[in-house]
Amino acid sequence: MTHFPYSEDGTKRYHSWNYALREEFGGKIFKVPVDGGFDCPNRDGTVAHGGCTFCSVSGSGDMIVAPEEPLPIQFKKEIDEMHKKWPNVEQYIVYFQNFTNTHAPVAVIRERFEQVVNLPGVVGISIGTRPDCLPGDVVDYLAELNQRYYLWVELGLQSTYEETSNLINRAHDYQTYLDGVAKLRKHNIRVCTHLINGLPGETMDMMRENVKRTILDSDIQGIKLHLLHLMTNTRMLRDYQEGRLQLMSRDDYVSVICDQLEMIPKEIIIHRLTGDAPWDSLVGPMWSLKKWEVLNAIDAELIRRDSYQGKFDVRIKE
Ligand code: SF4
Repeated sequence: MTHFPYSEDGTKRYHSWNYALREEFGGKIFKVPVDGGFDCPNRDGTVAHGGCTFCSVSGSGDMIVAPEEPLPIQFKKEIDEMHKKWPNVEQYIVYFQNFTNTHAPVAVIRERFEQVVNLPGVVGISIGTRPDCLPGDVVDYLAELNQRYYLWVELGLQSTYEETSNLINRAHDYQTYLDGVAKLRKHNIRVCTHLINGLPGETMDMMRENVKRTILDSDIQGIKLHLLHLMTNTRMLRDYQEGRLQLMSRDDYVSVICDQLEMIPKEIIIHRLTGDAPWDSLVGPMWSLKKWEVLNAIDAELIRRDSYQGKFDVRIKE
């Protein structure tokens, strides 16, 4: 039987985030989501109002335990929860998850980040942001953090198609994303790009093309592939109610994810293959609540195809 390098028993067929962390730190690490209290330029009027049409009022950070608390308390409450399941984990990556975590003057960003990065056990920091929120002084601070910690910057892109971006009110174009990646890579900062499968108007060919373009056009080290979660408190709900949006079936999602994995070079870390949506505000697809069944179905489909990440690596020319 083929032995894949991404797990101890050799059965994992893609370069998972958990595997990457074990390689880097020698054991399990918690990624600890916190709410840094930032806004988003796409909601506060800096570039647009209303936000991306799929974005919930919490800025896609619905799973944070105590978002109103001071940052060190949020961090403690999160790790206390996680320790109930894995009591022996002692190393953490702080994850500034919701809204746009570089959308403030650099002094404010520094003051908030430094409240948590110096806490005991913190070895890394992951920062979710938009590619149009990377001015020079902020990138310089990120470069400093990159020297001190294991740093990832997670850039929201969602789609490479301008027509989709306009439809979902993304309020930045593909070129801005490419420029953002280039600014970060100048300082060797690891970049993880966020794409969504199932956006309105996108076919499975377009979803595959999103991954292909992202890999070919930008020097990224990680990728997050998400299913579109339709939430109650979003503008996208009306698209669905008025028939402009079809939710993906589980079979189509599994199939497109496997196609995408086959195109992604082996060294690129797969941070996610699906998301966690809060069940009480999810409109659909409801099958996504059974996350482990989705992940198991992806594993099973790769086995059925006798396939793996990078089988048809788009960076390798025939
Ligand atoms: S950029 Fe992020 S936080 Fe801002 S509206 Fe879009 S999804 Fe929400």
